[in-house]
Amino acid sequence: MSNSESNHGASAFRTTTRHMLKSSKEYQRKTLMGGLSGFESPIGLDRRDRINALKTGDIGFVHSWDINTSVDGPGTRMTVFLSGCPLRCQYCQNPDTWKMRDGKPVYLDAMVVKIERYKDLFEATKGGITFSGGESMMQPAFVSRVFRAAKEMGVHTCLDTSGFLNANYSDEMIDDIDLCLLDVKSGDEETYKRVTGGVLQPTIDFGQRLNRRGKKIWVRFVLVPGLTSSEENVENVARICESFGDAVEHIDVLPFHQLGRPKWHELRIPYPLEDQKGPSQALRDRVRQQFESHGFTVYV
Ligand code: SF4
Repeated sequence: MSNSESNHGASAFRTTTRHMLKSSKEYQRKTLMGGLSGFESPIGLDRRDRINALKTGDIGFVHSWDINTSVDGPGTRMTVFLSGCPLRCQYCQNPDTWKMRDGKPVYLDAMVVKIERYKDLFEATKGGITFSGGESMMQPAFVSRVFRAAKEMGVHTCLDTSGFLNANYSDEMIDDIDLCLLDVKSGDEETYKRVTGGVLQPTIDFGQRLNRRGKKIWVRFVLVPGLTSSEENVENVARICESFGDAVEHIDVLPFHQLGRPKWHELRIPYPLEDQKGPSQALRDRVRQQFESHGFTVYV
């Protein structure tokens, strides 16, 4: 594995992930603009038209977008948060992205025009476009067509995903991804199920496919005391990362915090981590050392 700093030239390019930062002052400081401004929404499309357009990738359902630096991949990036997610992570910071129908339908062409507008900025900062979510792999046709257009413009592409919907992606689609921010949410099926409600194997399969296609991965692991923190679980995550071979540039250990709690309350969803205080420095250090002992570059 190699160090992302050697590729991108500065440690400021390390990822910090919007899951942890989107509600924070630091995230807002790094964000130039965003929301849903600048996209004309398709009008006159009935439900069936929308489903068909989603299948072909003519439209995508978008929660919001922003321009940020050093958050969702290298350089200055346009990050598009798609709506819809099949998982239900206990520590989710953005439960408002779970339902696709809560997003705004946006035309493919409008998205491509917006990327074109920022092309020079991306080039100057070695940035690009990132699809995040929700779960970015829920809208494979839209994402892959936008990525194809971005690659034709010479723009760097990044997919922020859990990999849970591995089966939605063909090898040809993977070929247009430059970097994947891959959430490895736990190291064994039982813990993964408890943390997310889903199954782990597709994440492993997707990471290994990325490696076989010569892609780069920044692994993210959310550290929640008593939920994901056991030595055994961390060891298993490390072994999974090893199975991704040289694709892994570094691992981000993301200490759990409570920035997402207000959204769970607003949506009146029972919040399972109500009293969780986050990991101590000693626990962070132990987890860092565990990953480092496997030879990984780790940011905590
Ligand atoms: S993958 Fe988990 S953390 Fe990410 S949006 Fe879905 S439920 Fe939330």
